[in-house]
Amino acid sequence: MTIDTTNLPEAELTCANCKACCCRLEVMLITETGIPGHFIEIDKWGGRIMARLEDGWCSALDRNTMMCSIYEKRPWICRELQAGEPQCIEVREEYM
Ligand code: SF4
Ligand code: SF4
Repeated sequence: MTIDTTNLPEAELTCANCKACCCRLEVMLITETGIPGHFIEIDKWGGRIMARLEDGWCSALDRNTMMCSIYEKRPWICRELQAGEPQCIEVREEYM
């Protein structure tokens, strides 16, 4: 029997089935949210950004849980990015 999959819904895109892909992106610090200084780096233009480790992820990502270890103090950019928006889809396609 052949199953027609044309009208089946696509797999749900949520942070729960992601590998914190967006936490590999460069995160500029635009506002003051109380991020501990050891997670912050200065880029070559003098801007403040979240430091990333050699594995490519943000230094504030808990590698065991793959969740943000400073969630309450996370940068404005991290608060704004929503699952399913173009930047999310793009970075998921690159790393998943
Ligand atoms: S916003 Fe998108 S890329 Fe970031 S964790 Fe959620 S699903 Fe993954
Ligand atoms: S601050 Fe938190 S949410 Fe933002 S990139 Fe780092 S680990 Fe991800």
